[in-house]
Amino acid sequence: MTQGNKPKNICLTPAEIESRLVAVGIQPTAQRIAICRYVLCEADHPSAEDVKSWADTNFPKMSLATVYNTLGTLVEAGLLREFRFPHSDKVIYDSNLETHFHFLDEATGQLIDLTPDQVEIIPKLQKKFQIHDVEVVIRGNIKRQT
Ligand SMILES: [Zn+2]
Repeated sequence: MTQGNKPKNICLTPAEIESRLVAVGIQPTAQRIAICRYVLCEADHPSAEDVKSWADTNFPKMSLATVYNTLGTLVEAGLLREFRFPHSDKVIYDSNLETHFHFLDEATGQLIDLTPDQVEIIPKLQKKFQIHDVEVVIRGNIKRQT
């Protein structure tokens, strides 16, 4: 897929990433900056395993624990969100911090971001149900234009 499917994706420079990490009290090591840049700029809803296999080619000595720790720290810092989806038992990391929903392409397993104006949700609940968040995964196929 292309970056074009992620219009909200902000690709930060290493210097911007460094100052974002410092701003939230995280030591900006080269490994953290690299992981952050990968998940913000290149990866598309990766799992920790996806990030690890990317790291294996770029930082051969990075352990899975380091990957998990760094992702966890980025989530705590509010630079990354984590989701669990019904189709996978893996935690999925999402660099899109805007409110959005997901379309799951069942043929490829790819998750595509949907903006709130693409999916209208009108809860009709009694007042006692106080909604904090809404997560939507629409499953289907993507028709190829012929
Ligand atoms: Zn997303």
